[in-house]
Amino acid sequence: MSDLSAFSLAGKRIAVTGANTGIGQGIAVAIARAGGSVIGIGRSSMAETARFVEAEGAGFSEAMADIADSKATIALLETLMAAAPLDGLVNNAGIIRRADAVDFTEDDWDAVMDVNLRSLFFLCQAYGRACLAQGRPGRIVNIASLLSFQGGIRVASYTASKHGVLGITRLLANEWAAKGVNVNVIAPGYIETNNTEALRNDPDRSRSILERIPAGRWGVPDDIGDAAVFLLARASNYMHGAVLPVDGGWLAR
Ligand code: NAP
Repeated sequence: MSDLSAFSLAGKRIAVTGANTGIGQGIAVAIARAGGSVIGIGRSSMAETARFVEAEGAGFSEAMADIADSKATIALLETLMAAAPLDGLVNNAGIIRRADAVDFTEDDWDAVMDVNLRSLFFLCQAYGRACLAQGRPGRIVNIASLLSFQGGIRVASYTASKHGVLGITRLLANEWAAKGVNVNVIAPGYIETNNTEALRNDPDRSRSILERIPAGRWGVPDDIGDAAVFLLARASNYMHGAVLPVDGGWLAR
């Protein structure tokens, strides 16, 4: 029998932002399958995710916060960490706003940057600070995008934020790798979630995207969940500042 213990999260307590749906839900369920318990951080009911996680025999609790409000979310994270050690943090929550660059508003810029980059960085800071202060190892997995590498169309703030997520991940890895905190990032390809509903409803965009994916299909949240487990588990002990594309081969094309 093969030894899968390097991929086990048994006994681990992991926080996942935006765990109520989409990729965050897929990550929560994958953590549960690997034996970990999950704390969902977000603003909407996570009852469905709780059901899926508990069906795997794992524990789930929800912690409500509007992640656009970084101060409140950080205070919540600090409370969670004071209650019991947190073995990992997955910064998954994110939003997108679409408009031509010539019409892009400051509101659409700020809203996306606040959730996707500003709160993400300060959550990483709060988590890393606690790990360092307690001398405990830690794991951070950030969720980036293909638009961390490419320009995209009509998504100025999203592209800027996701380029930023890659840079911040690398910076934190440089500062914390020797201190036992692994910081890595997943770059999902095109995944079937609310975030991509508009693209999938546009027959021309949908067809042209699918034609370019070597795997010949869109991704599903489970595809990202299993990659997140790898980056949270012992199997990736020596990975720092790495970006893992999970994109059906899109970037290889
Ligand atoms: P989604 O289904 O729209 O989920 C986004 C998640 O973020 C939801 O849980 C949402 O909660 C949460 N969220 C957004 N703003 C929030 C706020 N202010 N406070 C609390 N929670 C907030 O999209 P998804 O595709 O799963 O996206 C998850 C991550 O993957 C994002 O960072 C996204 O950029 C990234 N990504 C997605 C794709 C893709 O193809 N789907 C590709 C690359 C990267 P609510 O339901 O309450 O809004």
